[in-house]
Order: sequence, then C-alpha cells, then structure tokens
Amino acid sequence: MNGQFSDQLLAWFESCGRHNLPWQQEPEPYHVWLSEIMLQQTQVATVIPYYNRFLQRFPTIKLLADADIDDVLSHWAGLGYYARGRNLHRAAKMICDDYSGDLPANKEQLLTLPGIGRSTAGAIMALAFKQHDAILDGNVKRVLCRFYAVNGWPGQPAVEKRLWQLAEGLTPEINVARYTQAIMDLGATVCTRSKPQCDICPVASECLARKQESQDKYPGRKPKKTIPLRETVFLLLENRKGEILFEKRPATGIWGGLWCFPECSPDDDIEEWLLAKTGFSASIIKKLSIIKHRLTHFRMEILPVHLKVKQCNNVKAMGEQQWCASGDALKFGVPAPVRNLLLAMSE
Ligand code: SF4
Repeated sequence: MNGQFSDQLLAWFESCGRHNLPWQQEPEPYHVWLSEIMLQQTQVATVIPYYNRFLQRFPTIKLLADADIDDVLSHWAGLGYYARGRNLHRAAKMICDDYSGDLPANKEQLLTLPGIGRSTAGAIMALAFKQHDAILDGNVKRVLCRFYAVNGWPGQPAVEKRLWQLAEGLTPEINVARYTQAIMDLGATVCTRSKPQCDICPVASECLARKQESQDKYPGRKPKKTIPLRETVFLLLENRKGEILFEKRPATGIWGGLWCFPECSPDDDIEEWLLAKTGFSASIIKKLSIIKHRLTHFRMEILPVHLKVKQCNNVKAMGEQQWCASGDALKFGVPAPVRNLLLAMSE
C-alpha cells in the first residue's frame, strides 16, 4: 500500500503538481528554509510577494545575519507570527557563527536552530538536501487523517505520534523531494479543508474517509475553549509638526520588537496617564472606532485615541521612542492593526 500511495502521488504530481513556485526554481537550502518558515500558518499566495521582497533585500544568509532586526521585521510586517522573523534572524546568526554561513545538511543540527521543528527540518532535508525524511505539516496531516480515517485532533500527542508513523512509512527512499512537494500540493489543492475534490484525487481508490463518505469528520476538531479578550487603548499622540509618537515593544511578548503606539488600559484616565508616564500634556481630539484583532491565544479590542500635545514637561523616556510622520512609519516593522491605522490616517 505504501509504495502504491507514493507511486500514485508521484504520477499525479508530474502533470498536476505545482512546479513554478519561486523557491522551486533554484532550490538552495536558504530558499527552502525561508519558504518553509513563511509557509507555517500562511498560504502560498500570501507568501509569494513577501518571499520575493525578503530575498531581494536579504539574498544570502550572511546578509540576513548582518541585518538589523528592525530591517528584518519591516520585511516581515503583515505576515503575522513575528516570532518567525525573529527566529529566522537569530538562526541566521547561528548559522554564520557555527556553520560558516551554510545551512547544515544534518537534521539534529537543524533542530537546534530557532524556529526549526521536526516537520520543517524534515522538509529542508527532503527538499533541499534530497535526503530521506518525512514531513507533517497541516496539509499532510489532513491528507493522512482522511486517507487512514485517523480519529482525534492532530494536536493531541497520541494522534500526532500515529500520524508521524504513517508519514514516515509512506515517504519513499527515492524521489523524496518530489514526493514531499507532491503530498503538500495534494493537501493544498485537492484534499482541501472544505470540499475536497475526491473525484480528481490520485489516491481516492484506497481513501477510507472517501469510502465512508466521512471526509468532513477528518481531521478531528480542536477541543473548544473560550478565547480570552484583552482590551487596550492605542494613543495616537501628535506633536506640533504633525508627527506621531511610536515606541518599540520589548523583544519578547506580543508583537515583540515591532513599533507601536503607546498603550494604556481602558481603565486609565488617558490624559493623566500620559502626563504621568511621559510628561506630555495632551488633549483628546477624537476617539476612533474600536478595532477587533485576533491573535493565536486571545482576542483584542483596541480603542485608538487621537491626541494632540499641548505642552511637554519633564519628558520621560519610555523605552525606545521615536516621533515620525505617519507615512514614514509604514517603513518600520509595525503590527497589522498599527499598519491599518496608519494607512487610514494617510488617506
Ligand atoms: S479521496 Fe478525498 S478525502 Fe481522500 S485523500 Fe483524496 S481528496 Fe482527500
């Protein structure tokens, strides 16, 4: 069955797989690594322009390692999950320090680099170094859950363990790079989350979910839990030159290392808070509409408040701060809600 699965998949891949993705053209290890990191949690169509811009700015691991983190994050801005950009930068430095600037062709060594987990290491080994190794990303999990009718949510350790066994058993010794791309393509283009196209699927004849007409049941859903709500206030503080105050967030935590507006709690008296924390006396011009933003572990409701500086007494430093025209700030690494507000302000 294993050989049949991979043979059918490889034959389908020749005529129906994706062969023109930018990182497939010159599959250097750096290109494969970068694409795999960007593709975590993000779809191919979204990734392509970011990938091209990123490589244009940082064409080698060395140039990435030497770059300022702000520069790296500004090229990541909009892709979300910024820890990926920070880890990529840290890993590039480690690769330059420990491996002379070349990604190691060794899975154990890859796994020591920040941001590279078991599936990403497997993808790099298979796609970049043509070594026998399995992957188990979201697309592959979905295909395997359906093909073998694996019950349970793939995030549960026992289910994940079973899926790794299946993935490793199916991965062929030869043609491993093409097989790896093929199974990712099958999940992305045929065995899609909703409405899988079983009538054109190359492995349909043996697929248990299809036989049971229970494709919707797999993969099992994540057990529901309530997502906490965090409320905050963005202070869009404008000086006499029309510039806005930005501050750099700490390296760890939400939007780590990105530039944001100063923030206070909805329970604070905004003008008093600003005076006490920054020394600026300011008056509120307008409270804008609440922005709803969803992150992995919580939801946010953000109240943006536009203020104008009246006076500044004893200005106090609040971390790294910078006054900047709203249009210029778009060149920094800023999180999506800040970017959207800046775009609205510059219209
Ligand atoms: S037959 Fe349908 S459910 Fe089964 S692997 Fe193919 S597309 Fe997915």
